[in-house]
Amino acid sequence: MNYLRALQDMSLEQIRSVIEIMQQSSDAYMFILDLTVDTYMVAEKATKRFPFPSIVIENCSDTLKSVVYPSDYEMLSADLEKCRSGEKDGHALEYRWLDRMGRVVWISCRGTVVTGTEGHRLLIGTVSEMGKKAKADNITGLRREARLRLNMESTLRDAPESVRFLMRIGIDNFKEINEKEGVEAGDEVLRELAECIIKNVEETVDVYRLVADEFMIVDIGEGKGQDAGAVYKEIQKTIAAMAKNKEYSRFYTVSAGVLKEGFSGTTVEEIMRFTEFALNEAKRNGRNQMTVFDRKAYDVYLERLDIRKSLRQDINHDFRGFEVYYQPIVSATDYKLIGAEALLRWKNEKYGCVSPAVFIPILEESGLIIPIGQYVLWEAARTCKKWKEYIPAFHINVNLSYVQLYKSDMMRDVEHCIQEVGLDPESLVLELTESGYIETNERIKELFKDLKSRKIDLALDDFGTGYSNMRYLKEIDAKTVKIDRSFVVQALRNEYDYNIISHIIDMVHSLGSVVCMEGIEEKEELAKMMATRPDMIQGYYFGKPTPAEQFEKKFLQATDSP
Ligand code: C2E
Ligand code: MG
Ligand code: MG
Repeated sequence: MNYLRALQDMSLEQIRSVIEIMQQSSDAYMFILDLTVDTYMVAEKATKRFPFPSIVIENCSDTLKSVVYPSDYEMLSADLEKCRSGEKDGHALEYRWLDRMGRVVWISCRGTVVTGTEGHRLLIGTVSEMGKKAKADNITGLRREARLRLNMESTLRDAPESVRFLMRIGIDNFKEINEKEGVEAGDEVLRELAECIIKNVEETVDVYRLVADEFMIVDIGEGKGQDAGAVYKEIQKTIAAMAKNKEYSRFYTVSAGVLKEGFSGTTVEEIMRFTEFALNEAKRNGRNQMTVFDRKAYDVYLERLDIRKSLRQDINHDFRGFEVYYQPIVSATDYKLIGAEALLRWKNEKYGCVSPAVFIPILEESGLIIPIGQYVLWEAARTCKKWKEYIPAFHINVNLSYVQLYKSDMMRDVEHCIQEVGLDPESLVLELTESGYIETNERIKELFKDLKSRKIDLALDDFGTGYSNMRYLKEIDAKTVKIDRSFVVQALRNEYDYNIISHIIDMVHSLGSVVCMEGIEEKEELAKMMATRPDMIQGYYFGKPTPAEQFEKKFLQATDSP
């Protein structure tokens, strides 16, 4: 073994030079440990990152005690003893070191024992940081999620307080680039973005490529520290500059989700989910922006998911816990009962009575509004049919969501329902909220026309809550405009809104439609609002929403009208 002989003849200074030269072409730290006299020589680079007092250390066992993670020391010491005594001729261990800031670093140490001139047993080898050895992504040259997870696992366990921030970055229109320009263009964008990110973070900050078009920046506090928001802005700027350089031949934006605190006691799974949630929030809020993870918003999101699950279960159990309540609608001329609005209620084992303001949007988001909407429609139609025996001109109002309009065959459903139940179409009024109405599309216009031709009336609900617009009224050709309680409350408080309501009602009348005023609670409110000349009134003053049986007893079987 000539190289060993050469080594034996070399001075310490020469060996050190060899180590330093070889060190330049390796990420690993070279070392020579003289087991006989307990002396350690390590590459200079290692002394910068780990608490070695110098590159040559005598009484190395003592020094190692401050470099090696305390509970791993015994295992290392036992293995080195075997090398020293001749029981083993090689060393291959994965264990932990502590860096100069006391943070845990997983290392892989490999070495071979050789015998020197004076019979000294020397262990010669390398120490590599496992976190830096991850397999690179071929497209971007970055490490992948598996490595991120391993690294974060040890960091979260041993030094969670050292983490400054994690930023998950996603391309807003990646799918579109892939679809329109091909996968190669997609890869190019990924490479470009990886470059943009690396350019804008300190050298000590880690960047990983995650699934598809996502990247993760991990600042575990080794450098001077950067502000997450500033990093994001710089990345945005660099991307914009690149687009300009390429004469806007390709354009993309990125969103980011940042996790800044609460790393103690958090698992890798959680930080992955939290950053994903924050990134999705940024995308939901309109993309091309950064969102910082907010625990409260996340808890609300989780609760919504859970409510959605409960809703689905209850729907699948034959609409368990759902009930249709009815609220009286009276004529403004004589306050006699002329109809009712069907209002959905949901009572769940876990959540108790949940407000429609909470569960209706969840039903809409999940598409569950379609089966439940059918349920309400059939319940309401049957009930109306029955109540027409008391009041022949009785009509029932059923709320309709835009999701039902866009994603189900409403016309067929309504027709089928009234035919089966034997209800005349004039008795059914479909209420559509104004706020969900995005734009008139030809299919919807056709539907409105069809309904009209079949004598089913439409009501424009929640008028005054958002985009109050007479154009909608004309487009949906609504027979009724329902003025929302919030608008009525404002009108009761100030003259300006009162005058607006008054003018709106005149305008609605001039268009040949009628007005139902919602949310009248008190006698005085009624008296004041009556001067604006509504045609119908609905409010607690005349009756709250109640179950069908109670409604029948209270408002239909009783001799007096409500
Ligand atoms: P909406 O269609 O505007 O229904 C009127 C709401 O105002 C009802 O709230 C009713 O209880 C309430 N209200 C009526 N009079 C008064 C009053 O004098 N004072 C006060 N403070 N409130 C009054 P509810 O039942 O909580 O329903 C809220 C919303 O949920 C409804 O607003 C409707 O948009 C939606 N919704 C309810 N049931 C259904 C349904 O079956 N399908 C769909 N798509 N939406 C529904
Ligand atoms: Mg309504
Ligand atoms: Mg309303």
